[in-house]
Amino acid sequence: MLNDVVIVGAGPVGATLALALAGGDHDVVSLDARAPDTLARGDRSLALSHGARLIFDRLGVWSEVASAPGAVTAITAIDVSQRGGFGAARLDAHEQGVPALGYVVSYRALQAALDAGLKRARMPVHHGVTVTRVDATPAYARIRGECQGAPCEWTSRLAAVADGGGDVVAASTRHRHDYRQVALIAKLWRDEPHRGVAYERFTPEGPMALLPEGDHYGLVWTTTPAQGAVLAAMPEKEFLAALAARFGARADGFLKSEDRRTFPLSLEFAGTVADARTVLVGNAAQALHPVAGQGFNLGVRDAYELAQALLATPRDRLGTADSLSEYARRRLADRWAGIALTHGLLGVFGSDAALLRWPRGLALTLLDALPPLKRIFTDAMLYGLR
Ligand SMILES: Cc1cc2nc3c(=O)[nH]c(=O)nc-3n(C[C@H](O)[C@H](O)[C@H](O)COP(=O)(O)OP(=O)(O)OC[C@H]3O[C@@H](n4cnc5c(N)ncnc54)[C@H](O)[C@@H]3O)c2cc1C
Repeated sequence: MLNDVVIVGAGPVGATLALALAGGDHDVVSLDARAPDTLARGDRSLALSHGARLIFDRLGVWSEVASAPGAVTAITAIDVSQRGGFGAARLDAHEQGVPALGYVVSYRALQAALDAGLKRARMPVHHGVTVTRVDATPAYARIRGECQGAPCEWTSRLAAVADGGGDVVAASTRHRHDYRQVALIAKLWRDEPHRGVAYERFTPEGPMALLPEGDHYGLVWTTTPAQGAVLAAMPEKEFLAALAARFGARADGFLKSEDRRTFPLSLEFAGTVADARTVLVGNAAQALHPVAGQGFNLGVRDAYELAQALLATPRDRLGTADSLSEYARRRLADRWAGIALTHGLLGVFGSDAALLRWPRGLALTLLDALPPLKRIFTDAMLYGLR
């Protein structure tokens, strides 16, 4: 049987794509290696922009995510500063006329709401299918995998790959930049409530962030792999003291940490997101450093924009090189802006060069002092760069 669209991976991005295609005329099937009602990995917090929230609103899943206890925390202000230099900026939701600058959302709760949305919309998802390879012919895509230990296969006019890695696509080339850094993440409690304020602090060793999350903060501390291992194993008291030394006067009163762990940081992106009969979305298309919180939002926009393009494409043109190259062309600016913003922030703010400290301070001071500049920066955080 020839399906119109097969979506490989029904994680947050693949499921968003499938849900955005519900109600259209195309016959869409999703495949995922995970078992029904489970997660591909442990829970984690996703940084969601206001623009991405609007997409989930439109798809009818936001109210369900927001009603799950502790699943969503609104970010009402962001305090940006640098260690060892002057200048700071504060971005405020109220000033920008929006209810929140962004949200910290539980991956588990979002996935559960998307899974439930797909069930309601009667969009078929085959769980327990591990796709091993996606090949393209001029007429169709061939998707091969393993279903409960036995080989299985699908053919479709288009294969949309949202597996978080993209390696299953035979023809895809992938670029990788290793930052030679790790992110140490932990739950963190302070002696006062967070009131929705997030902190982004640029230090010579790398950026750090405190994101409000339920009754605590989510800490992201980027550092060298050696230092990350030391910090992860440090006795609690020493760890909190090291943290206080890094944050200085911008944030203090750290009481306790839980679940300290590290993961390596890299930038990975596919050279081409759309080729004949295949398209890559979400982390399969680009996996960014978490410094600017842009990665997941870029993936949600990939999914939503691709769905709009496919809904407007007649069945017999689905997956053709010209219809896909039009989609890829339209996503180009947003995609490269996200990659460049993240990489650029790391180049300018993640650098140890003392010479860069005063221009960085100046940039932060200007950002704080000039409303139009602040607006441009905040709009980029809220809706992405266009
Ligand atoms: C360690 C780590 C920490 C992160 N922390 C943060 C954070 O704090 N904040 C933030 O905003 N972002 C974070 N991210 C990024 C965030 O997790 C991604 O942006 C987001 O998960 C991308 O969604 P996705 O649907 O593209 O991929 P995924 O979430 O990876 O989902 C992929 C789906 O495809 C399925 N799948 C995978 N392979 C196959 C296969 N071969 N066959 C069939 N199905 C398959 C999986 O079961 C899964 O359901 C982190 C990423 C990593 C790796």
